[in-house]
Amino acid sequence: MSTITAIRGFNDILPSQTAAWRDMEQALTEVLDSYGFSQIRLPLIEQTQLFARGVGEATDIVEKEMFGVVHGGNKGDDNTSLTLRPEGTAGCVRAIIEHNLTRGDTPKLWYIGPMFRYERPQKGRYRQFHQLGVECFGSGLPDADAELIAMTYAMWQKLGIADVLTLQLNTLGEAEERAAYKAALVAYLTEHYAQLDEDSQRRLESNPLRILDSKDAKTQEILNNAPKLSDFLGAETLAHFNKVQEYLTALGIKFQINEKLVRGLDYYNKTVFEWVTDKLGSQATVCGGGRYDGLVGVIKANPNQSEPAVGFAMGLERLMLLLEATQVITPQSQCDVFVIAHPDYYADGLKYAHNLRLNQPTLRVKMASATGLKAQMKKADKSGAKYTVIIAEDEVANGQLTIKTMATAEQVRVAMTHKFEL
Ligand code: ATP
Ligand code: MG
Repeated sequence: MSTITAIRGFNDILPSQTAAWRDMEQALTEVLDSYGFSQIRLPLIEQTQLFARGVGEATDIVEKEMFGVVHGGNKGDDNTSLTLRPEGTAGCVRAIIEHNLTRGDTPKLWYIGPMFRYERPQKGRYRQFHQLGVECFGSGLPDADAELIAMTYAMWQKLGIADVLTLQLNTLGEAEERAAYKAALVAYLTEHYAQLDEDSQRRLESNPLRILDSKDAKTQEILNNAPKLSDFLGAETLAHFNKVQEYLTALGIKFQINEKLVRGLDYYNKTVFEWVTDKLGSQATVCGGGRYDGLVGVIKANPNQSEPAVGFAMGLERLMLLLEATQVITPQSQCDVFVIAHPDYYADGLKYAHNLRLNQPTLRVKMASATGLKAQMKKADKSGAKYTVIIAEDEVANGQLTIKTMATAEQVRVAMTHKFEL
């Protein structure tokens, strides 16, 4: 029988990596807390229809990247088609509608967890990957856009990677402005149809704006003379965009305007942004987001009941790759106090360690197993613990402990009630 391995594109995050992951997640959540954002926990599986509607039929995600769920013949209880979530915004919007969270409130929410996309696995691109996402509802004003961008910047500062990330900014205007632009763009590109790459030819009908970020050199050359979206934008859009830039400038956050930045998802309007790096090869975007005032209405299937909103998502594997590429991540010990006990007195050792964990809850207290003292001491040496507690016959008889300071090998006898200082 052959060995069973993980599925292609699905990764294990191993014990040697999890400390760095937890540190990264803690740094990120501390920033979210400091901005007063609340966590929401969302299901991993939703109705396929939610993504078709919320992400957009003509997007890469819905066209070719979704993982369907086989359940009783790929059907849910009520025969609906189900899909593993490829992103978090659609589910988050569904939840705020379902639980009426915007009634009398302007929720600022975040979530973290795995997302699933059927892509060709490579460095920085996997089939299961993790995102931290933020969605902020209820404000159509440009300060909401700027606050989210400032918060991502604070995260980079906290992680020490602010100087390897560049902020790219664009505005997509409103639906009518985009529609007028789309018509002009399609008219222009149709004249050059034969020279476009295959993907772009296909997109000319389904999603022409996506052609702007085609990686094909010839297509890009043709685009140099194409009509520009900025020429189709009205006063309101431009004023909004200027305000976002003004706020960012006031905060000392540098940005580049990238008129070809359109983002992969259908739901954006006005501001869109990406944080990119030159340290990760072609998987250069670490975080992307923007405004999506129409999405609540789209998911409700009622465009009149819309709700202004702005959000972003960052890829945690890419963030971790960036940390690894730019910083020395020193492996940290997972243990402060190692308790070893003679096999005949192992119950005393277990009881002591149990109480120590209750009395000094921030200490990380580890034990081996009831083998010989020498074998246990070897494990204590390896553990990186600061102190080893030794409990044997004499210690038990006197109600005492022997404590070995691992750095100096110095041993002292103390009372059972000894408090450890780190
Ligand atoms: P890309 O252009 O790289 O495919 P995207 O536009 O599909 O990105 P979003 O849907 O905006 O990405 O997701 C936000 C972030 O999630 C991305 O910027 C990236 O950091 C991360 N991400 C997206 N897809 C993957 C993946 N398959 N593997 C790892 N990270 C991913
Ligand atoms: Mg993608």
